[in-house]
Amino acid sequence: MKTNKVVIIGSGPAGYTAAIYAARANLSPVLFEGFMSGGSPGGQLMTTTDVENYPGFPDGVMGPVLMDLFRRQAERFGTKIFSEDVEWVDLSRRPFLVHGASREVEAHALIIATGATAKRLDIEGAGDGEFWQKGVSACAVCDGAAPIFRNKALFVIGGGDSAVEEAIFLTKYASRVYIVHRRDELRASKIMAERALKHPKIEILWNSAIDKVMGDQIVGSVLLKNLQNGSSKEMEAGGVFFAIGHQPNTAFLNGQIATNEVGYITVEAGSSRTSVTGVFACGDVQDPTYRQAITAAGSGCMAALDAERWLSEEGIE
Ligand code: NAP
Repeated sequence: MKTNKVVIIGSGPAGYTAAIYAARANLSPVLFEGFMSGGSPGGQLMTTTDVENYPGFPDGVMGPVLMDLFRRQAERFGTKIFSEDVEWVDLSRRPFLVHGASREVEAHALIIATGATAKRLDIEGAGDGEFWQKGVSACAVCDGAAPIFRNKALFVIGGGDSAVEEAIFLTKYASRVYIVHRRDELRASKIMAERALKHPKIEILWNSAIDKVMGDQIVGSVLLKNLQNGSSKEMEAGGVFFAIGHQPNTAFLNGQIATNEVGYITVEAGSSRTSVTGVFACGDVQDPTYRQAITAAGSGCMAALDAERWLSEEGIE
């Protein structure tokens, strides 16, 4: 079995950036880009259209195009990419063992960049092959500026800081933004909640849920249910945004690395070091706060530099 200096798991902006830096440091990285698991190859940007906030692209860039550029840059410097999922890892032995769907490799240093998956609800009409990405999205910041949402009534599901932040963001484009929350009180911080409550374009629909998303080619209306009295009404809608939290993709770790209470890998402040020496984490799998492609890329760079320094300290050249 081949022992690699660095194995990277994950292929979003964090994983590819870690690969670019590790490859340029002559560490001959191997990267598992995934295939079917939680995050698909290329990560969350693969399901986004125009990316307008990634520096260096003044005219914007399509999410999948940007990820193809990342991938090609990683390959150009010699990253070996395996298009398969990592099913489990054994961090109790050295070198670490990485078990992929069709191969096993050993790694002196491991970089975890498996991202997080925005949670979605199983609502009729909102799924793949229905109105998902045709007006239904799980990222207002990524998709909200699309022409289909302009001057329309937009619905944000959730009651946390993300829901409020996304609703406020969407007010730039929407005629009106409705926050659909299942309870009668927001989970969002007081200051954020106040902003939503005071905003002239935002209305909160308390004790409510969307039961169905309807339309022709794109979203046209939603069926809104009042959870207190069970009544339903149809409301015109140009878009529906899930803002009910993210799930970090850590199942394959099987509890071998410390995480916070909701599953994000904990790293030492200002570094990518995890609770297991020689294992580094970057991108959304360790970031419940910023969750942007550019911050993920930056942390991928940190992970590669941390791994390189650690390998050198260990005398693994
Ligand atoms: P969150 O705080 O976990 O809130 C999730 C919201 O979605 C809750 O209101 C929850 O309702 C609702 N929800 C969950 N499952 C649902 C379901 N099945 N059906 C309907 N509603 C459902 O997640 P978040 O808003 O993404 O925030 C995550 C973390 O990031 C938080 O710590 C937050 O403070 C932080 N954050 C901070 C900022 C900022 O400071 N600018 C911005 C974004 C996020 P219930 O309230 O009824 O449980």
